Amino acid sequence: MTGSHFPDLPVRRSFARTLADHGFSLRRARTEILQLNLGKLCNLTCVHCHVNAGPKRKEIITRETIDRILTWLADTEIHTVDLTGGAPEMIPDFRYLLEGLRRIPQIETVIDRCNLTILLEPGHEDTAEFLAAHRIKIVASMPCYEPANVNAQRGEGVFDGSIAGLQLLNRLGYGRRDDLILDLVYNPNGGFLPPDQAELEAEYKRELKEHFDIDFHQLFTITNMPIARFSSWLKRSGKLEDYMETLLEAFNPSSVEGLMCRNTLSIGWEGEVFDCDFNQQLGMQWKNGNPLFLWDIDPGQVVNRPIAVGDHCFGCTAGHGSSCGGALA
Ligand code: SF4
Ligand code: SF4
Repeated sequence: MTGSHFPDLPVRRSFARTLADHGFSLRRARTEILQLNLGKLCNLTCVHCHVNAGPKRKEIITRETIDRILTWLADTEIHTVDLTGGAPEMIPDFRYLLEGLRRIPQIETVIDRCNLTILLEPGHEDTAEFLAAHRIKIVASMPCYEPANVNAQRGEGVFDGSIAGLQLLNRLGYGRRDDLILDLVYNPNGGFLPPDQAELEAEYKRELKEHFDIDFHQLFTITNMPIARFSSWLKRSGKLEDYMETLLEAFNPSSVEGLMCRNTLSIGWEGEVFDCDFNQQLGMQWKNGNPLFLWDIDPGQVVNRPIAVGDHCFGCTAGHGSSCGGALA
């Protein structure tokens, strides 16, 4: 189950070889989290986007697929469902899905990965209230506390929209109450590794409080993955080789144990199964002769299954390590 689906990543030693040299064989543990990518529709078109999402994309989950996923989840011990996209809130059946998830007793945590600006778009003005009423945890992208960096990466005006979105969430109690969790995500504005997560979190808290009276719980630092739109940007800027060398040089063996592909199952908008959202964007769908969908999988039988790796995986193991929950090591 090894082999890169991204053969033009310039690395002098493959990820699979690097793992083997360190004595690792990457296999799945018990599945605790289902990360569901609802599709590629988004109100933004960020430079670092690994999904190539945007306002014109048509790929979105249907109600029929949602029903199949809810039925499958009800018979599992999975305690966390993590919704991503695209902008999950733009999916027509987003609220139907959240209500269905909230009816499954063993699911303790439902996460909405939110770009903040969507909360202010016409037609979405009451989305934040809906999220609060259903105690949905929000993980929001906020690549910097300064306008220039955010606008360069995400588009003109996105910084102001993000600040307004955070202030709206704070007014509802998000980031200020223990039952309304608001975490932020930082990713570098270019081809370099994130700084120390705890130090950056302290800086974010100080700056956002002082200038905008914003509160949040935790900051997650995430490394930019060398795939999709970010990889194209690196290539166009002549920086892809240097970036891959940076990732490879910074390989950190202590990040391997906590890699998110070990306890998270990634599901596409049509129900396809992958080891992670990055593998999903590279089309590395699970197969058993035929392509596998969630309803083909027995959650108890995926433990110890080999994880499909490629050279993009160096993005998860560099420096402090990187996952949807931030640094690993
Ligand atoms: S990074 Fe997030 S907010 Fe930006 S285009 Fe991609 S899905 Fe949309
Ligand atoms: S990209 Fe990261 S999370 Fe995905 S399979 Fe590779 S190491 Fe695991």
